[in-house]
Formats: sequence, structure tokens, C-alpha cells
Amino acid sequence: MPTEIEKREEEDRWFKKHEEDLIEAAKEKKRIEEEERLKKLHFMHCPKCGQTLHQIEIEGITLDKCVKCEGLWFDKGELEELQRREEEHKHKFFGKFMEMFR
Ligand SMILES: [Zn+2]
Repeated sequence: MPTEIEKREEEDRWFKKHEEDLIEAAKEKKRIEEEERLKKLHFMHCPKCGQTLHQIEIEGITLDKCVKCEGLWFDKGELEELQRREEEHKHKFFGKFMEMFR
């Protein structure tokens, strides 16, 4: 049987853990709110000059282009996809070019 002191210590540990969990949950909620606030503020705005970004399509890939400074912004994987298509195109071109001499 736990003594009164042990029961009290167990209770204290439970309250401390519960309080820590509440603090962590509040921090996480604040972090998510800040992330959403920043996304609303910056979404589709140029990271260089802050103006609006418009979507343009190159080779079937949609890129974001700034209306002011004309900066071009790639989403994750888009640059690699363009490079891949460029390589593919180059090979097609040289393949056809070489066929002319056969
Ligand atoms: Zn810009």
C-alpha cells in the first residue's frame, strides 16, 4: 500500500505532467497559427520585391513569375523536371540529327 506521502508525490507528478502537456499543446497551436498567418501574408508574393506572382506555363510546368521584377520561382521538383525534359529533348534532337548521316 502506498503511503500518504507517496500518494501525494504521485499526484504532484500527474499534475506536473498534465501542466507540461497543456503548455506543449498551447505552443504547438501558436506555432500553427503563426505558420498560417505567414502563409496568408506571403502566399503568391515575390520573395524578392513583395509584388504579386502570376502563374505562367513552360513546357507544361506551371511556374510563378513576379509582375514587377520578373523573377521566376520554381516549386519543389519543377526545376529538375524542366532539366529532365530538356535532356530528353536534346537526346531526341541529336538522335534525329545523327540519323541524317546514316
Ligand atoms: Zn519581384
